[in-house]
Amino acid sequence: MKTIKYVTGIMSIILLLLISACGKDDENANKDPNEQIHVIATYSIIYDIVKNVGGDRVEIHTLAPVGSNPHEYDPLPKDVQLTTDADAVFYNGLNLEAGNSWFEKLLLTANKGEKDSPVFQMSEGVQPKYLTTKGKESEEDPHAWLDIRNGIKYAENARDGLIKVDPEHADVYEKNAKAYIEKLETLHQESVTRYNEIPKEQRLLITSEGAFKYFSEAYDFDAAYIWEINAENQGSPDQVKSVVDFINTKKDAVLFVETSIDPRSMETVSAETGVPIYGKVFTDSIGKPGEDGDTYIKMMEWNIDTIFKGLTEK
Ligand SMILES: [Zn+2]
Repeated sequence: MKTIKYVTGIMSIILLLLISACGKDDENANKDPNEQIHVIATYSIIYDIVKNVGGDRVEIHTLAPVGSNPHEYDPLPKDVQLTTDADAVFYNGLNLEAGNSWFEKLLLTANKGEKDSPVFQMSEGVQPKYLTTKGKESEEDPHAWLDIRNGIKYAENARDGLIKVDPEHADVYEKNAKAYIEKLETLHQESVTRYNEIPKEQRLLITSEGAFKYFSEAYDFDAAYIWEINAENQGSPDQVKSVVDFINTKKDAVLFVETSIDPRSMETVSAETGVPIYGKVFTDSIGKPGEDGDTYIKMMEWNIDTIFKGLTEK
C-alpha cells in the first residue's frame, strides 16, 4: 500500500514537471530570441548607464524626463503602462525616488511590488552616506553616482539585472559592461591625477543642493550648499544667509549651479556675495540629447572639467 502511494506520488511529480516543461517550450517557441527587452529607468542617469550596458538588446524609457528633478515625480498614465509591461525596472535607491513616495506607489500600481519582481537597485553595494541636517541624520544621501567608482557599481548592477531577465544574451551584457567600466575607470584615474594639481585648501565646491558628498570623498573636496537635498525647503532666507555668511569667510569661493534645479537661489547668493556663478554642473540629470553632458560619462567629464577650471582659472 505504502509503495503504491509512493509510486503514484512520484508519477504525479514527473507529470507536473512534464506539463511545466511543455508550457515553457510553448512560451519560448512564441518568443523571437532577437526581440529587445523592455526596460524602465527611474531617471536619465540610470537610463544612460543601463542603455550602455544593454546596447541593442534593450528598448529603454526614463520615467523622470531628462533635465527634471527625480527626487519628486508624478508618473503619467503611460509610465504606469510601460512599467507594467516592462521586463526590468532599474532605480537608484538610497532615498532618491522617495520624495513623494512616487516610485513605491508606481510599483504597486504596475504590479511590480512583489519581492521577486524584476526591479533592480543600481546603488546596491554602495557604501551609503547620510544627510547631516538636524533630524535627517538617518536618511541616506542618494547622489552616489557622482563618485565614478560608484558609477562602476551601477554598471555592474545593470549588467547583473539584465542577465537575470535575459540570460540567453549574458555574453552581450558582459562584453558591453566590461568596455563601459574600462572607460569609467580611466576617467576616474584621470580625475584624481588632475585634481591633485589643486592644493587641498582650494578644493571647495559650492552648489545649490548638497549633492556632492560622494564626489567630495572621491576627489578630496570640501562642499557647501544652500539646501542639503531637493524635495525639502529649497532656498529659504535662512539657508541663503547661512551660505552667504560662509562664503564671506572664504577668500576664493567659486559658485556652481546645477542644470536640473531653479537657479534663482544661487543667483541671490551670487548677488549678495559679489561672487559670480562660474558655471553649470550636472547632478540629478544628464543633458538633453545633442547638448552638453548628454551621457553619464559626458556629464562627469563636464563636471570634472568645469570644477577644475573654476578653481584654477578664476
Ligand atoms: Zn539631487
